[in-house]
Amino acid sequence: MVLPLASGVFAPVAPGDRPAFWAVTGRLGGNSSGAFSSANIASHVGDDQGCVDQNLEGLAQLIGMNRSHLALMEPVHGKSIGVVAQAGVFTRVDALVSASQGIGLVAMGADCVPLVFYGSRGLSSPLVSAVHCGWKGLVAGIVTATILELRGHGASDIQAVVGPAICGGCYSSHAQRRDLVRQSTVKEVSIAALQTQHGIDVRAGVIAELALQGIAPLVVGGCTYENPEELFSYRRERVTGRQGVIVAITEHQEES
Ligand SMILES: [Zn+2]
Repeated sequence: MVLPLASGVFAPVAPGDRPAFWAVTGRLGGNSSGAFSSANIASHVGDDQGCVDQNLEGLAQLIGMNRSHLALMEPVHGKSIGVVAQAGVFTRVDALVSASQGIGLVAMGADCVPLVFYGSRGLSSPLVSAVHCGWKGLVAGIVTATILELRGHGASDIQAVVGPAICGGCYSSHAQRRDLVRQSTVKEVSIAALQTQHGIDVRAGVIAELALQGIAPLVVGGCTYENPEELFSYRRERVTGRQGVIVAITEHQEES
């Protein structure tokens, strides 16, 4: 079974809201072997599909669901957001937003930042979101775009959990990439993301974006590159698996 690095519940803020379960995975548990050992949840990295399916089942079970309830992304490091009401595989989006109960939204990464949101909406269903953000996502502004999307649908009191990612010390980057980050993001974000001399700390940039929106996230997991036992890192291994985050609004419980 897939072992979470951490899991919990986004508690409702407004009366009438439903809570949402969330979980963050690493590489522990699961059924994959070799480079994908052992909780790889990505189908596109060369792992045995049967093992991936078992790991996705284990991921879904972390929030009380099964594989058929998952909403997965094929992200493209852009700024497109999919508003979804059913499970499935959604292409060309880097964020999913849903108000539907019983769907598990998943974001994956192996150095890129996976994160989830919960937005309270008073008497309406709350909103949940899963986002994938690498350095291109930081440049594109996918995280702030998702927060604005949630607010546009009436969400307030937004909470967030940010999963594991590579740190700036381990993610040395071309000067041109650093320049793009500096030119494309507000000062607070670029200062956070470019705090090391040669690297980009995408997660620090994401946390700065959240802070500017008044959101103090729970941050789970250390640097992917520095924790080979616990976390997948693309930069460290190239051929490797993906960890991720999942969030789902809880199913309605019938009154007895
Ligand atoms: Zn590091």
